[in-house]
Amino acid sequence: MRKTFDIKSLVRKNIEDMTAYSSARDEFMDVAEVYLDANENPIDNGLNRYPDPYQNELKLKISEMKSISSNNILLGNGSDEVLDLILRAFCEPEKDNVICTPPTYGMYKVLADINNIEVKSSILKKDFSIDKEDIINQIDENTKLIFLCSPNNPSGNLMSRKSVIDIVRKANCLVVVDEAYIDFSNEKSLINELNNWPNLIICQTLSKAWGLAGIRLGMCFASIDIIDILNKIKAPYNINVLTQRKALERLNDSKQFLVNLDRILKEKEKIKIVLDEIGFVEKIFPSDANFWLIKVDDANKRYKQLLERGIVVRNRSNQLRCDSCLRITVGTRDQNNKLVTALKQL
Ligand SMILES: *Cc1c(COP(=O)(O)O)cnc(C)c1O
Repeated sequence: MRKTFDIKSLVRKNIEDMTAYSSARDEFMDVAEVYLDANENPIDNGLNRYPDPYQNELKLKISEMKSISSNNILLGNGSDEVLDLILRAFCEPEKDNVICTPPTYGMYKVLADINNIEVKSSILKKDFSIDKEDIINQIDENTKLIFLCSPNNPSGNLMSRKSVIDIVRKANCLVVVDEAYIDFSNEKSLINELNNWPNLIICQTLSKAWGLAGIRLGMCFASIDIIDILNKIKAPYNINVLTQRKALERLNDSKQFLVNLDRILKEKEKIKIVLDEIGFVEKIFPSDANFWLIKVDDANKRYKQLLERGIVVRNRSNQLRCDSCLRITVGTRDQNNKLVTALKQL
C-alpha cells in the first residue's frame, strides 16, 4: 500500500524558508580549463581543491549497489552526522519530540539532547523486540521522528520487518530505521520499501561490515523530498576528498568485502560455541550483528577480569533490560582465541 504524505507539514519553518548556501561548485558545475572561483590554492598537491559537494561519483556507485537512484541518497560524516541533520531539519527545539526504543544506540538521545528536543522512550520488550502498540500510542501532535535500530545495538537482534512496516504505515511522522549492522544479517534491507513509504528514512554506514570506521561515511536513503531538505542544511563540503576516494576504492572491491564478511561471520559462530560452554555465561542473546550480548553472573567482575588479561569488552550492565550484560565484538581469529583462552581461565 502506498502512502501519501506531506513532508512540508513536518519540516521546521525556518528550514523551509531559508536559502541554502551556494558554493562555487553549486554555481558552476560544468568542466572548465581554469578554476579561479573558489579561492583555493592553485598549486596542485592532490588535495588543494574542494571536494565534490554532492559526491556524485561515490553516490553513483552506491546507487548501483543498492538499486536506488542517487537522488534518494545523502552522505554524511558518519551516520552520526546524518542523524543530526535529520533532527535539525524536522524537530523544533523545546517543542517537538522524538521516540527512541531503549536499550538502543545512545547517539539518538544525545543528539536530541544537544538540539534540545524532547525524547520519549518506548522500552523494548524482554526479548528486545519493539513494542509496536506502545510506540504508536506515544505519538502525539509534536512527534516528528521515531528511531528504530535493526539489528539493534546493544542487543544484536533484528526487528520484525512486519512490525517496522506497521509502524511506518500508522505513523504520521518520520520513521528512521538505522541499519548499521544489516550487512551481517541474512535479512534484506528496507531500502526496497522506500518507494511505498514517503515517511521512511534508512541509515547505513561504512563503519562496520565495510571496515571503514576511520573514514567516517554514513549513508541516508529516503524520498527525494527528504533528501532535498537534508541537502539544503548540510555543510557544503561535508565529505572530504580522502574519504570519497577511499570509499569508492573499497566499494569497488566487493570480492574482498565478501571474504572479510564471511570471516567475521564464521568467527562469530565459533565464539558462540565456546560461550555456550562457559559456566558463568547465563544467556547469549540472538544476534544478527557482529557482536554478542551475553548475560553473565557478575558483569563488573567479569569485565575487570578480562581487562586484567588485556581484553576490553563493553559493559552494558547499566542499560535498561541489560542487567549483568557484556557486549563482545567479534574479532579476528587471533583476537578471539585470546578471548576464549581468557574466558576459560576465569
Ligand atoms: C556503529 C553504529 C553506527 C555507526 O555510526 P557512524 O557514525 O556511521 O560510524 C550507527 N548506528 C548504530 C546503531 C551503530 O551501532
